[in-house]
Amino acid sequence: MSEAEPLPVKIRAEIAAAAAYAQGRTAGESGFKLSSNENPYPPLPSVLEVYRAQSALNRYPAAAAPELRERLAERFGVTSAHVHIGAGSVSLLAQFIAAAASVGDEVVYAWRSFEAYPGLVTVTGARSVQVPCLPDGRHNLPAMARAVTERTRVVIVCTPNNPTSTIVTRDEFETFMAAVPSDTLVLLDEAYYEFVTDPQAVDGKPLLPRYPNLVVLRTFSKAYGLAALRVGYAVGQPGIMAAARSAAIPLSVTDAAQAAAVASIEHEDELMERVARIALQRDRTRAALIDQGWAIPEAQGNFVWLPTREATDAAADAFFDGGISVRPFHPDGIRVSIGEPESVEKLLKISGEIVRGLPKGHPGKRLG
Ligand SMILES: *Cc1c(COP(=O)(O)O)cnc(C)c1O
Repeated sequence: MSEAEPLPVKIRAEIAAAAAYAQGRTAGESGFKLSSNENPYPPLPSVLEVYRAQSALNRYPAAAAPELRERLAERFGVTSAHVHIGAGSVSLLAQFIAAAASVGDEVVYAWRSFEAYPGLVTVTGARSVQVPCLPDGRHNLPAMARAVTERTRVVIVCTPNNPTSTIVTRDEFETFMAAVPSDTLVLLDEAYYEFVTDPQAVDGKPLLPRYPNLVVLRTFSKAYGLAALRVGYAVGQPGIMAAARSAAIPLSVTDAAQAAAVASIEHEDELMERVARIALQRDRTRAALIDQGWAIPEAQGNFVWLPTREATDAAADAFFDGGISVRPFHPDGIRVSIGEPESVEKLLKISGEIVRGLPKGHPGKRLG
């Protein structure tokens, strides 16, 4: 919020001081929008048809999302009571944090990570404890475990991490879970789960029976290409799902979103082919960037991370002027989504110019 104008009503100081969520810049004329980790492919005709068939707009949606929950429960080998649907996994994050944490409590997460986390914590009145990522952008899980105190109510682990695209391995995660008190909620944010190709990466699903304090969060926004419809899901113990429901704004998930999500599960093979293509394009893009001289971490989401540091804003402007909107996080780096195949050439042309301009010894530049 701007501090220029006096507030006409009493507002909580921490809210007045907080920055509103900043959305990725849209693409300029004839440009590519690689700033929001969106899926570049339009919805499948079959999914669009189901969505368009929704006509009872005068009726409230089915609050419990029974069909979608049933489908997801089958897939996870759990009951519907273990599944909770939200209007995007951002709203699920908000619900779980609000259900567990309030004034005097702490929420631990890596930083830099998903830019929505700090605001969601602030709204609950709890305090964010941000544990710096390792120099290669990976979570420092031992340090995160050490940051847990008796005030900690929630720990968020983001893998692949937005914006660095790095994963947490299964071994790292199991060691971490063994160190975290079993009554502290752990949210495993797997928004980019479907893009992961590294066999070492943690997968929350098979770990759920072992850790009753673990909740897995996934979304239809990224791999399934339904970002506009706002639908995500959580899987975990029924009592924790019920608590999140109590903290939710009722009736936020529309029937159209539920129906499109169910249709997407039915046409998953086709959608996962696209995901595989995006992952391949990611690997090729990263390899080309490294060839150009960039030092960039492993990339397992549908995006790559350029550690441009103090050159971040200038580099983002150079991309924008060249027809590509990216997501700058000054003074750390730039997140570039893997988008239309046609965007790659343009992207690499600009990134090549930028890396040539970085001084010797810059952390974003390979040695030699
Ligand atoms: C995109 C994203 C989400 C969720 O997005 P929704 O559209 O709200 O489902 C959650 N976590 C991370 C890390 C993300 O990048």
